Amino acid sequence: MTVAIDGPASSGKSTVAKKIADHLDLIYVDSGAMYRAITYIAIKNQLDLTDQNAIVNELNQLVIDFKRSDNGQMVYCNDVEVTMDIRQNDVTNAVSLVAAHPDVRTVLVQRQREMASSKNVIMDGRDIGTVVLPDASVKIFLVASVDERAERRHKENLEKGIESDLTKLKQEIRERDHKDSTRKVSPLKKADDAVEIDTTALSIEEVTGKIESIIFEKYPEYQK
Ligand code: C5P
Repeated sequence: MTVAIDGPASSGKSTVAKKIADHLDLIYVDSGAMYRAITYIAIKNQLDLTDQNAIVNELNQLVIDFKRSDNGQMVYCNDVEVTMDIRQNDVTNAVSLVAAHPDVRTVLVQRQREMASSKNVIMDGRDIGTVVLPDASVKIFLVASVDERAERRHKENLEKGIESDLTKLKQEIRERDHKDSTRKVSPLKKADDAVEIDTTALSIEEVTGKIESIIFEKYPEYQK
């Protein structure tokens, strides 16, 4: 089984994907973390972020790994733990630029497909249902208002000890939405066969419940 969850920044994808992965014993693949990881390394190594070749060279030497721990899923770049580093503002504000390079996407899409090839996965991102896993068994597209998404990200940042300004966040989310949905290669887009859920007025439990009922309709054996 493959579940694809797409949607704009802070629409709740990763929170619900993690919960569903836990409930149904699926492997959670956070594709956004992979774009963040290469962006973090490119910034750290002072690469020109508009230089696609330099970034792809770096990416070809970069092993991005996910490992489960008691504190949730950890992200590693060549065995160095970078879970928090890739969530910092400098990475968040640069990632859409790096993710727009077609050759960067080719490499990461290939890796994402490999991760899904032999396991039951739930993968979240922007192009999972349209490009990475077009044959996914269940496709969900989450949306929420900009105000609601900014409030959620603000709360999350404060909880994680990341500096946060709500007005700036709204602006940054609008900009990231724009860049992600207007880029030439694999823009953020709902797949024709995806189910759209507006999470603005829903709790995490409600969204999780809705998606799980869609999964159970198709795979009743997953309902314990
Ligand atoms: O999901 P998250 O906000 O962590 O993703 C960070 C960024 O990575 C997105 O804003 C987008 O530019 C890029 N991304 C992408 N395709 C994906 C997942 C993320 O282009 N499948």
